[in-house]
Amino acid sequence: MKLVFEPQAPVVVATSRGEGFPVGRVFCIGRNYAAHAREMGHDPDREPPFFFTKWAGAVVPAGIIAMPPETSDYQFEAELVVAIGKGGRNIQPADADQHVYGYACGLDMTRRDLQAEAKKKGRPWDVAKNVEQSAPIGLIHPAEDVPDMSLGGITLTQNGELKQSGDLSDMIWPVVDVIAYISRFYALEAGDLIFTGTPEGVGPVKPGDELEVRIAGLSSLDVTIGEASR
Ligand code: MN
Repeated sequence: MKLVFEPQAPVVVATSRGEGFPVGRVFCIGRNYAAHAREMGHDPDREPPFFFTKWAGAVVPAGIIAMPPETSDYQFEAELVVAIGKGGRNIQPADADQHVYGYACGLDMTRRDLQAEAKKKGRPWDVAKNVEQSAPIGLIHPAEDVPDMSLGGITLTQNGELKQSGDLSDMIWPVVDVIAYISRFYALEAGDLIFTGTPEGVGPVKPGDELEVRIAGLSSLDVTIGEASR
């Protein structure tokens, strides 16, 4: 059948081997580091994990990202991103590693003011989280090329100043548990990305800011905040 218009090309992320990883869906886990849960006003011990989603179109490579409209508090969250290479439903934690293609540094950019309002009113987080260009990610490194990603430092600097510093081993729900949990609700597919939560120290950005996310064993992610989008 003739298409009414040309469909958009798939979103593709570069790998460290010079290949392209076509992106399917984007899942993001909330409050996965105890200290960040506390800075957001929650008790990390009493709350089960939860996740939200972003469009694949929110994923962009390193470089300049626009300040989105309708926010005066756009914030960074440095995160480890897991790239799914093999799908599955009801994946057991012991088998979860087999479903991972690789790992990357990522940012879960957030309209914090709209998120706070949504929380207060018990409304969805879409306009706070599912923002155009809000999911920059670095090169995806195949799992066999990197060290054990269940531990190691994760940091974010803003204009050279250290703002976030944590360790992957501080995750309340480790990567294998996150994969198992999401796969209870959705059949995971090759191409899905999972943002695994952020350590404490999140904060606002302004145009011109330079952010750098570093995770031991991965290529760093450098992002510059551009002018407001129109
Ligand atoms: Mn996040």
